[in-house]
Amino acid sequence: MSTEYEKREKQENIRDVSASEKVSGKNRERAVRIRERAEKIRSRIVEDRRVLHQDPEIGMDLPRTSAYICKCLDEMGISWKMCGGPLPRKMTEDYMAAGFPRMERATGVTAVIGSGSPCILLRADMDALPVKEENELSFRSCSGTGHMCGHDSHAAMLLGAARILKDMEGELKGSVKLMFQPGEETGAGARVMVENGVLENPKVDAALGLHVQTVEETGTAGYAAGVNSASLDSFILKIHGKGGHSSQPQLCVDPLMIMNQVYQAVNLLVTRETDPAAMVALTCGVAKGGTAVNIIPEEAELHIGVRTLDVAAANHLNRRIPELIDHYVKAWGGTYGLTVFHTPCTYTDEKLCRELVPYIGMITGEEKVHQIPPMTGTEDFGYVTENVPGMFVFIGAGAPGNAPLHSPHMVLDEDVLPVGAAVYAMASVSWLEEHGTGKEDA
Ligand SMILES: [Zn+2]
Ligand SMILES: [Zn+2]
Repeated sequence: MSTEYEKREKQENIRDVSASEKVSGKNRERAVRIRERAEKIRSRIVEDRRVLHQDPEIGMDLPRTSAYICKCLDEMGISWKMCGGPLPRKMTEDYMAAGFPRMERATGVTAVIGSGSPCILLRADMDALPVKEENELSFRSCSGTGHMCGHDSHAAMLLGAARILKDMEGELKGSVKLMFQPGEETGAGARVMVENGVLENPKVDAALGLHVQTVEETGTAGYAAGVNSASLDSFILKIHGKGGHSSQPQLCVDPLMIMNQVYQAVNLLVTRETDPAAMVALTCGVAKGGTAVNIIPEEAELHIGVRTLDVAAANHLNRRIPELIDHYVKAWGGTYGLTVFHTPCTYTDEKLCRELVPYIGMITGEEKVHQIPPMTGTEDFGYVTENVPGMFVFIGAGAPGNAPLHSPHMVLDEDVLPVGAAVYAMASVSWLEEHGTGKEDA
């Protein structure tokens, strides 16, 4: 049976370029060892995932989740550092304006296994979503938040990889840096960690991020070379008018009418000023204001989101949307406040991709690794791949037809957990072997 990945696979296949020379001898033996070790610690990876699943936290400040990660690293004898700290006040306020809870600090965690250069970074996000879980699992979340994007599994898989890598520390020809990241769903958790030095000391030379995918067969791996996730620009617009009685519109400035005009104008930008070949999805996900039919309200609110894989289109819209807002609001005598958030595209470096794909295939089985089209969703791993060569990989954790990520019914197949841990471990050890000192032939 062919999977969605196979159906979508392109002609060109990067794994063919260098696979043959790597799929032999030492690397094969290492892959077997890592797979066996991952299976041995499977119950522990499952346990870690369930502990995190049961107690989801959202946003940048994940005190209990981070404490659990640190406790596990302590048990392994791996020293760790917090990376994030207090957030700039403006950031806290901007996120509250966009509807997030108050977030005053970011609780990222980093750790290094091995030493010296080169250094490869393994990234797992660990935040949840404001979605109430609707599953009957013994370890389901009972709060109003849930790990419906699978970040609990990412953190558990990276802890699993840490267990494997710690045992192999003597073999590492450089350093593996672990990045446990909060706030992915805010679009800026990775940015905060980058700004707080996660890519320095030791300096990171390459980075790998994984994401589970519940609508693909468990154990498959999908990647897109080049741009592989859309950028997202969000415009949070608050229009201030002049409220009053609905029978006297001439004495008022109606923010709902202004909002309506802005809503139409920004949507027309996509059909009238954007190259049809550019993938652009513009959605006004929030449009609200008013309380009763006989009142013209004081304020209205519009949230405009633009996703695209095309940098030129993103730049054009980012310039034009504020221009149109300014034009329409002023035309009708209103005032406004505008908060803008930006998350870049995630970019998979082609050279790194060629290097890592064979190692991933040695864990999953080569036939299960597929090149896929870029996704129209957004991933804040883009803040890492903006700075260092990176690769982002989707690991199947279910089957076609399953509830997708972000659904309250999303359930992931825990068989993915040892696979993901082994992929992280194999890719990092082998990449260091290829680039580090004391390099030996495979
Ligand atoms: Zn998500
Ligand atoms: Zn996610």
